[in-house]
Amino acid sequence: ENDATVSIIVVGTSGDLAKKKIFPALFALFYEDCLPEVRKISSFFIRKSYAILGSGFSSLSSIYFVPGRSSDIFPCVFQHFTVYGYARSKMTDAEFRNMVSETLTCRIDKRVNCVEKIDQFLTRCFYHSGQYDSMQSFVELDKKMKHHEDGRFSNRLFYLSIPPNIFIDAVRCASMSASSGNGWTRVIVEKPFGRDSELSAALTKSLKLYLEEDQIFRIDHYLGKELVENLSVLRFSNLIFEPLWSRQYIRNVQMIFSEDFGTEGRGGYFDNYGIIRDIMQNHLLQILALFAMETPVSLDAEDIRNEKVKVLRSMRPLTLDDVVIGQYKSHTKGGMSFPAYTDDKTVPKGSLTPTFAAAALFIDNSRWDGVPFLMKAGKALHNKKAEIRVQFRHVPGNLYNRNLGTDLDRATNELVIRVQPDEAIYLKINNKVPGLGMRLDRSKLNLHYAARYSKEIPDAYERLLLDAIGGERRLFIRSDELDAAWTLFTPLLKELEEKKITPECYPYGSRGPVGAHYLAARYNVRWGDLGADQ
Ligand code: NAP
Repeated sequence: ENDATVSIIVVGTSGDLAKKKIFPALFALFYEDCLPEVRKISSFFIRKSYAILGSGFSSLSSIYFVPGRSSDIFPCVFQHFTVYGYARSKMTDAEFRNMVSETLTCRIDKRVNCVEKIDQFLTRCFYHSGQYDSMQSFVELDKKMKHHEDGRFSNRLFYLSIPPNIFIDAVRCASMSASSGNGWTRVIVEKPFGRDSELSAALTKSLKLYLEEDQIFRIDHYLGKELVENLSVLRFSNLIFEPLWSRQYIRNVQMIFSEDFGTEGRGGYFDNYGIIRDIMQNHLLQILALFAMETPVSLDAEDIRNEKVKVLRSMRPLTLDDVVIGQYKSHTKGGMSFPAYTDDKTVPKGSLTPTFAAAALFIDNSRWDGVPFLMKAGKALHNKKAEIRVQFRHVPGNLYNRNLGTDLDRATNELVIRVQPDEAIYLKINNKVPGLGMRLDRSKLNLHYAARYSKEIPDAYERLLLDAIGGERRLFIRSDELDAAWTLFTPLLKELEEKKITPECYPYGSRGPVGAHYLAARYNVRWGDLGADQ
């Protein structure tokens, strides 16, 4: 058993994602001795699933979801693993190691010098140069891997960190020429999974020519974020939330994503997709599905994904009426000037691609009938964050109405789940200001992660890589989920493009186009992130 190996092949290793996320995540797992000996971790997962089923939800917090690194969770045994970089660029192993080392830091434990650990990690890194459609080159890669596997039981994880137009070539070559002979072969695929329903279905069909569905790990890194994973714990292992989780008590739900920078020279990729495809159709919709799904039969990946598909299929496809789009324009502030989206040299002149969108979505089932789920996503806004806001209904016949003044928002409670940065969960409540009078104010019951948990929160890619190695599919997207997600957005995206709808301008660094406020107001909602006491 201790002789199993895992080879992790980062295809497109010279690219931005590999350097920014994949190598740092692999090193963090290595640092914590969490790149596992594979058969051990698989049986461990199975044991835990049974333990959870047997003991109900109460044991969850101690098993799965204490924020922190995976070594809290897994009795990790570090054995034989090797990392391969694959790209067209010519590099020696030494040059590759040098490139990788520049991406690594000692952020896990800043007090210790982890140079020694970095060196140990680098000795396991090898490079292979080749074209993405060259069968011969993958045959050579296979030989190299076999040499290091040294006759052991071998498992192989390909991470496709390449542009989508070459996904299929790489999958064909990897599966036909470099699959494991005696263990598993898995492939992590990065977004975008197509541009619309048809292209996504075509991509899935092509992938399935070479892979079984259970070999495909479609990554949405938002699902690996600590607070997104915690959503189910919050709902299903606390008595006080789940009974309120319906149209009866919830007035609206908001999913908000904002970035305080623009495309900054990387608009080439973005312009072909736009903010709706880049953020809403995947990250925000995935959060919505987890938020709104019915209680799954168990925490098994298929049970959870079945519930997510059901929610997505109960939603109304979006129309132009449900959406406001925007694009940032140049702005000068404090002597600094910030460019317009179309000033980016990689963006075609006159581009109508939205850099901002707000949308109202509805779930036509008995739990959520009539509740607006409002999404907002934008680049070059005044701040950088991702959060979920749940606004509750007014207290019927509230005895304290006259003490609440005219501010209608103060008459409701709001639960905020701040996914990033500075993770927190807080509940806004009305409270009596201490003193002899009867004045109410709005205060927060605040679970601020940095104050509550001393451990650093792992990066989403660490969790997802570890899950892919362990064969845990809960946080990866199944093909029917993907189809359902595209069905919701495709008619809108086509209409926007066919009718050449012009986005509303908003200044770089602002709060976005004013149309977003009108959209929310139509449903009697105020965006929670813009309030004075947000
Ligand atoms: P990238 O830097 O544009 O490309 C990765 C590597 O692919 C490049 O280093 C290059 O390697 C090769 N490549 C690029 N264009 C190619 C072409 N036209 N034909 C053949 N090879 C080409 O991509 P990335 O930003 O790392 O992203 C990788 C994947 O992750 C993409 O699918 C992207 O959509 C997705 N993604 C990226 C991010 C991010 O933050 N960057 C976030 C989410 C998802 P060689 O020239 O050395 O072969």
